[in-house]
Amino acid sequence: MHKVMLITGASRGIGAATARLAAAQGYALCLNYHRQRTAAEALVAEIVQGGGQAMAVQADVADEAQVLRLFASLDRHFGRLDVLVNNAGVLEQQMRLQQMDLARWQRVFATNVFGSFLCAREAIKRMSTAQGGRGGAIVNLSSAAARLGAPGEYIDYAAAKGAIDSLTLGLAKEVAAEGIRVNAVRPGVIDTEIHASGGEPERVTRISQSIPMGRGGRAEEVAEAILWLAGEQASYASGALLDIGGGR
Ligand code: NAP
Repeated sequence: MHKVMLITGASRGIGAATARLAAAQGYALCLNYHRQRTAAEALVAEIVQGGGQAMAVQADVADEAQVLRLFASLDRHFGRLDVLVNNAGVLEQQMRLQQMDLARWQRVFATNVFGSFLCAREAIKRMSTAQGGRGGAIVNLSSAAARLGAPGEYIDYAAAKGAIDSLTLGLAKEVAAEGIRVNAVRPGVIDTEIHASGGEPERVTRISQSIPMGRGGRAEEVAEAILWLAGEQASYASGALLDIGGGR
């Protein structure tokens, strides 16, 4: 029986790279996406053609009813869950805090924080050995922004990732005795489309000089860390915040 991994925001970027690596390692995959159906379905086709198992499910992780529907699809299709990767994340246009409004903060926290809380809650119900589950692992996507603060760019995003760090630390302790490990990866500057949504598609190039390794990271390099935390090799790791930032 293949282990089943649910990855939120798997249509592109770090989520898609994680899906490819997980498929190569034998996981059956439930790939969530928000808007990019074509990309998600192409990724499913690629994995299935390679001999893997994958399904794509549309859901906005910030919407509780849609998250419940996502997990119901997972239950129907696979009937088990071993790993949740809370990867879906957004940031908005770079600006100073004094220019931001409440509606923006609510959007940023809704997807990055509450989406991860909702998915973690549903995963625990299925994984907890105290509730008839087999145990499992949750890997949250935090960010180096949680410790750097993203001044002048998106302090709201950084604060949301700070909340993900606290979620990871608290939940790891709360469910450790129920066979569930909870960890986070904190990527530095990784070359994906997320920077364009902040209004600076070339952000990776600009910041490269301030990174000790002298370059931005690749989504595949983050995926390696996620897969390690998800797997049996990390059997004694819980509550870890793993920095993947080229030394920054
Ligand atoms: P990305 O390329 O912009 O991709 C974002 C993914 O999240 C897409 O699959 C998108 O789906 C999905 N998504 C967005 N809002 C969603 C929602 N409400 N519900 C469900 N899915 C949603 O981002 P990325 O760079 O791969 O980032 C992945 C994670 O790593 C995020 O949590 C991000 O904060 C974190 N991270 C990234 C970096 C970096 O430098 N790239 C650094 C630190 C942390 P659609 O394609 O369907 O819209």
